[in-house]
Amino acid sequence: MRRPLVAGNWKMNGTRASVAELTESLRMQDMPTSVEVVVFPCALHVMQVVDGLNGAAIDVGAQDCAADVGFGAFTGEESATQLLDSGCEWVLVGHSERRLIFGESDDVVSKKFVSALECGLTPVLCVGETLEQRQAGKTVEVVARQLAHVLAQAGVQAFGRAVVAYEPVWAIGSGLTASPQQAQEVHAAIRAQLASEDQRIADGIRLLYGGSVKAENAAELFGMADIDGGLIGGASLKANDFGAICRAA
Ligand code: PEP
Repeated sequence: MRRPLVAGNWKMNGTRASVAELTESLRMQDMPTSVEVVVFPCALHVMQVVDGLNGAAIDVGAQDCAADVGFGAFTGEESATQLLDSGCEWVLVGHSERRLIFGESDDVVSKKFVSALECGLTPVLCVGETLEQRQAGKTVEVVARQLAHVLAQAGVQAFGRAVVAYEPVWAIGSGLTASPQQAQEVHAAIRAQLASEDQRIADGIRLLYGGSVKAENAAELFGMADIDGGLIGGASLKANDFGAICRAA
């Protein structure tokens, strides 16, 4: 049995005051113990949120990490080493906003994935196709290529300590959600790709769906055989909505 996981990506949102409010409201939510919950504030707010959620069953992660571990001359970056030191346990890697706006290649994403694991963080590897790629019938091919790159660099055993999030780019922040069947098809393909290298890893790994998940559509998506939870953007900024999504998992 895979334990459901719901992750909230707060992106570049919040002030110290609003983050304190959100954190406090999350503490008040009735979170199901059967579901693992993690939030990803911006790096500046990580320590505040770690302190604010102390004692609550909600983990904290970062939205990105440097490709290199340790310390060094990489202005503006945070290494997995530093994130761990700040209280993070998780990190997103390869979010489509990083890939598309900041030009992160599969190679860089793979290095970040390896660095996160090397430091003891759990990486959530994000993969997904653009609308153009979906319309060209290339969804599974694109996702398989993104996954293959990381598999080649990290090895399949690394996925025993990782999570993969399928996030169609056209569904992120757009209000458009992949249908449960569309999402399931890609999740099944991801699991089959991992199974072709190691069945045990494929059976155990949690695969999340992300892209305009709301309280109203969460249960149906999470009810699909290969969808083990969600990566939630916009709706994770409202504690009540996020709580409802967690309870749907
Ligand atoms: C995301 O950015 O990872 C995401 C899924 O966003 P939203 O839920 O707002 O579509």
